[in-house]
Amino acid sequence: MSETRRVETIVEPQSVLEGAGVKLQRSIGTRAVNYLDPFLLLDDFGSHDKRDYEAGFPLHPHRGIETVTYILSGAVNHKDTLGNSGSIGAGDIQWMTSGRGILHEEMPQVRPEGIVGFQLWVNLPAKVKMTRPRYQDVRADRIPEIQGKDGARVKVIAGRVGEVRGAVSDIAADPTYIDVLVPPRSAYRAPIPRGHTAFAYLFEGRATFPGPGHEEVLVARPRLVVLGDGDEVRVTTGDEPARFLLVSGKPLHEPIARYGPFVMNTRAEIEQALEDLRRGTFVQ
Ligand code: FE
Repeated sequence: MSETRRVETIVEPQSVLEGAGVKLQRSIGTRAVNYLDPFLLLDDFGSHDKRDYEAGFPLHPHRGIETVTYILSGAVNHKDTLGNSGSIGAGDIQWMTSGRGILHEEMPQVRPEGIVGFQLWVNLPAKVKMTRPRYQDVRADRIPEIQGKDGARVKVIAGRVGEVRGAVSDIAADPTYIDVLVPPRSAYRAPIPRGHTAFAYLFEGRATFPGPGHEEVLVARPRLVVLGDGDEVRVTTGDEPARFLLVSGKPLHEPIARYGPFVMNTRAEIEQALEDLRRGTFVQ
């Protein structure tokens, strides 16, 4: 018997200024939801007003985490001090493992279509926090897309859906990251490994999730829906379609010491990161 995951919390994204003045909507990494082990942060930076995003994210460090950038519209140019550079365009994903350290900039490009995209931070377990930095850049046309029998359209960024493997692999948290579009008056189900932390980020339309009792909970965009434990998620739609990110990952159950773009296990490791930055030994 499979158990349906029920709504645990529904979170309204908070408006936050980040980088050099980018206005974004944050739903993980706030006072309401500080840490959803192993997920540290979820930002939605959609805007058609260039004043909201053109300042971008100039040179900044990361250590101990992964940043996952998924762009639906527009583009973000990036470069780091290791010599990596590129552009993340519509439908593309970048899964960046900062490991022991990168210094990079991420600059949304001013375009008539504006920018629509998300950044998720995934914590690294202690044993790989100081690993070599790594990028998995996947272009839109390399992300597997499935048309489900329930009518849903699913883009498999990471994890496995049926026999289809996601475009990104070998990630410590064993994550699932899929982009799901459910048409009107449909029911969608997907398995999620029991014990994994899971959430849906609803960014288009409305959808109904099973509530903690026998009730159904109607959610309208934009909302983070944190799901309780179980084996599968069930989402139904009414007259409107719904589109959401469905993300899950294995919790680390490790202590965290968090300081801006560094997430380590102890305060001393944060001090070390700051010291490495001061000495210019942060990036090797
Ligand atoms: Fe960054």
